[in-house]
Amino acid sequence: MSFTYDLQQLTGTLTKYYQESLNGNAPVINQHPIGAIHDDLNLARWAEEGGLKGKQLATFLAAYFPHTTRLYHPHYMAHQVAVPDLTGALGAFVDGFTNQPMSIYEMGPGAAAIEFFMVNWLLEKIGWAPMPLSPNVDTRSHGGGALTHGGSMATLTALICARSHLVENVWDQGVPKDLVVLSPETSHYAISRAIGIMGLGLKSIRSVATDSVGVVLPDKLPILLRQVKSEGKRVLALTANACSTSVGCYDPLQEIGSFCNENNIWFHIDGAHGAGALLSAKYKHRLEGIDTADSIIWDMHKMMRTPGVCAAVLIKNHRHLDTAFAQEGDYLFHEKAQPGVDFISRTLECTKAGLGLKSFFALAAKGTEGLKDYIESRYEITLDAYNYINKLPDFHCAVKPQSNILCFRTDQDEKWHLVLRDHLIKEGSFYLSTAVVNRQRYLRMVLMNPLTSLDEIKLLIKRIRRYSVDYG
Ligand SMILES: *Cc1c(COP(=O)(O)O)cnc(C)c1O
Repeated sequence: MSFTYDLQQLTGTLTKYYQESLNGNAPVINQHPIGAIHDDLNLARWAEEGGLKGKQLATFLAAYFPHTTRLYHPHYMAHQVAVPDLTGALGAFVDGFTNQPMSIYEMGPGAAAIEFFMVNWLLEKIGWAPMPLSPNVDTRSHGGGALTHGGSMATLTALICARSHLVENVWDQGVPKDLVVLSPETSHYAISRAIGIMGLGLKSIRSVATDSVGVVLPDKLPILLRQVKSEGKRVLALTANACSTSVGCYDPLQEIGSFCNENNIWFHIDGAHGAGALLSAKYKHRLEGIDTADSIIWDMHKMMRTPGVCAAVLIKNHRHLDTAFAQEGDYLFHEKAQPGVDFISRTLECTKAGLGLKSFFALAAKGTEGLKDYIESRYEITLDAYNYINKLPDFHCAVKPQSNILCFRTDQDEKWHLVLRDHLIKEGSFYLSTAVVNRQRYLRMVLMNPLTSLDEIKLLIKRIRRYSVDYG
């Protein structure tokens, strides 16, 4: 069967790609202009003539791989995107192959069951009651959730839950003018984007006071609330980071949560990157108080070794999610005899991939313990990197890391650091990102790759120093 042959071609080229990335025998990043890539890959000819099968498939992939950014390369330190667990990647393949848009149960009962399982697994890690298998049997309050196509989508879903909870008839009447959202300025733009999409206007975001690296100062919350109330505004939600994107610091969730609970404010936690620390007995204290939230997002495609995209929106009281989208399409939403549940009323997406598969495959390959080991090892290597770099006379770090994100710099100015980064990218030796912390530009490393060790960090520092000698 030619499909079997195609699979063999794939196996061969993928294995080679994986090995050479792992061994660092290819540039970690290699960027050419779009037009050059179109030509190199012969895209127009393929589109016209077809035939991407068998040996041709292998030839095409061999041309394609040099144009990838190699996440399996131990010098990949730029972004928070997972280095996928290989079984997780197979889960993504199986999902694409079987194509089970499981938001209605009848279109993928297995995929829906796996998503249901994953949501419950996450709810229990937070300390919230899982969804009962049969809603008619158990009417106690419990959590709810869904997997979404990414954290931005999950954030929007969570804030829509908050809005439907606070504003009755919002779907009919539209958005009232008196809503504000309290957020630290260090929030990911997914928050402001959701607020923009929801029609609140960015002016409705009120900055919560933070320390110099952007961690929320809970003592300052009462003043802000008084001020907002004196303007006649209602608080739609207060958001906090666990952890923040730029420096990877955790906000004090317990104190913020107590404040929100006392004042009847919807508490949203952005755990896209950092919620994975819940798996670790050693680091879960950073998330103490996470269960005081009303909504949480948690990206599987960051610290959970899941290929993109897959995130979870998790709601303490499932009713807030079940009633969040008060809009129905009657060809999809009708009484029917079925042994499972439809996720469709809980998500923005109508057709939705079987996202549970890739996250479950990654989890099931490693096991909870294996995933915990991965997360702990990345937090620890980042601390090692900090201890090494911060002692060097010509380098300093923005803050002692609380996760696997480290911001560091030399005494040179902003431009120097940006040009250095471009240089490293151009030569394909190291792939870093940058972040502005306390109005200063830092190089930023996010240690996602399980193979990155202190040796790679030392090589990086050596490379930067050599650059400094060569270019001043
Ligand atoms: C990545 C990230 C997001 C956005 O999630 P996507 O999956 O990229 O849409 C939101 N918040 C934080 C803290 C993040 O790190």
